[in-house]
Amino acid sequence: MNYVVVGSSAAGLSAIHAIRKLDPCGNITVVDEESRPAYSRVLLTHYIAGRVAERDLFLVEEAFYRSYGVRTLLGVRATGLDPGRRQLYLADGRVLDYDSLLVATGARAVVPSWSRTGGVTGLRTREDAVRIRNAALAGRRVVIVGGGPVGVKLACALLELGVTPTLLASSPRILSQVADREASLMLEQHLLRHGVRVRCGAEVGEVAAGPRGTEGVVLSDGSTVPCQLLVVCKGVEPRTELVAGHLAVRRGVLVDNGMRTSVPGVYAAGDVAESPDIWGEGTRVSAIWPHAVKQGKVAGTNMAGGRDLFPGVLPRNAMDVLGMPFVSMGLLHVPAAAGWRSVSRRRGNSYLRLVIRGESVVGAVLLGCPQLAGPIQAAIRKGGRGWEQLVPL
Ligand SMILES: Cc1cc2nc3c(=O)[nH]c(=O)nc-3n(C[C@H](O)[C@H](O)[C@H](O)COP(=O)(O)OP(=O)(O)OC[C@H]3O[C@@H](n4cnc5c(N)ncnc54)[C@H](O)[C@@H]3O)c2cc1C
Repeated sequence: MNYVVVGSSAAGLSAIHAIRKLDPCGNITVVDEESRPAYSRVLLTHYIAGRVAERDLFLVEEAFYRSYGVRTLLGVRATGLDPGRRQLYLADGRVLDYDSLLVATGARAVVPSWSRTGGVTGLRTREDAVRIRNAALAGRRVVIVGGGPVGVKLACALLELGVTPTLLASSPRILSQVADREASLMLEQHLLRHGVRVRCGAEVGEVAAGPRGTEGVVLSDGSTVPCQLLVVCKGVEPRTELVAGHLAVRRGVLVDNGMRTSVPGVYAAGDVAESPDIWGEGTRVSAIWPHAVKQGKVAGTNMAGGRDLFPGVLPRNAMDVLGMPFVSMGLLHVPAAAGWRSVSRRRGNSYLRLVIRGESVVGAVLLGCPQLAGPIQAAIRKGGRGWEQLVPL
């Protein structure tokens, strides 16, 4: 059996473990355009802050692939696919035959058109993190564009490093996709108190560049925020380009709960995949590490002839914002429709909001009360009934 895995990160590695468990002898080849072994993207902001050494970002060493009998093609990009012939094309001209293929190509940082200039970077790879840390250590002024989870994490990391960042969010509040209004405002106040310069409703017009590179960012109101490094954290997009035109793709590569794509013999897992949600109501790209690991395991098991199912995406975010634990999960928007409501409580710096549909909890925002996250998540997964007993409201 010939297994080919494109992407050696959370989903790809987890699939390799699962395949080997069931098939000790099959040929496994992993292809990744990055030239070093897999590392943790979750730790990148911890590395920037100086809490984690660069060598400790790596999840495995090269010996791992050898001990698992995996042929590695690192530093090589996969460029094309012929599902009819079951062949994968590589940028260096090689062609790989496969019986079973896993697309675990992840996601890339969104790059707005105004940002295609020097002095601008995203934050997705180890190289991005090294560039940001070095610029900050060299005393460069850093502006972060994007008030989502990665932008906020980066702001916290830079502050920890002793650099005061400016955070520009185009929406009226930070974390607008993953928190409700109250939690966003509490976190914004918290960041401001710690010295982060936060500007919401700030739309970037263009990058101001001079003879020595980036000098600032010009906002649509005409004002300029000076900086030498601009980090764009405007979200991610699944890397579907390898398979577009061959597999069914919506935002990500569409898969069922077995991580099977629309084409026999081809699986997808992790940030590139769009899979059913836990309510069975739609499909979602999940873009979090634990889901990538679980989906990789399911894909690898099924590729090797076993049977495993992904229980469905439950959207989830968790982070420590300068000592304030923040967690959100599930559905956060309350539509103006019958049966929907929200319940919220605030005590000091602790805040809890539950989104209720009918009799069931379907979403939650928690600030300063991380101990409630596990029980609420379990309740949502079990259908959401009985949440009143779990929550001290
Ligand atoms: C700064 C940052 C902080 C984060 N923090 C958290 C967090 O706190 N909690 C959390 O749950 N998640 C977090 N995430 C998200 C998490 O890292 C991702 O969900 C996870 O990395 C997804 O894993 P993956 O295997 O699907 O894809 P990726 O990690 O994106 O890996 C995909 C791999 O595929 C390779 N590849 C892509 N296309 C090709 C090609 N054509 N040919 C060859 N190779 C290719 C890439 O080089 C890459 O190595 C964070 C992400 C970032 C960037």
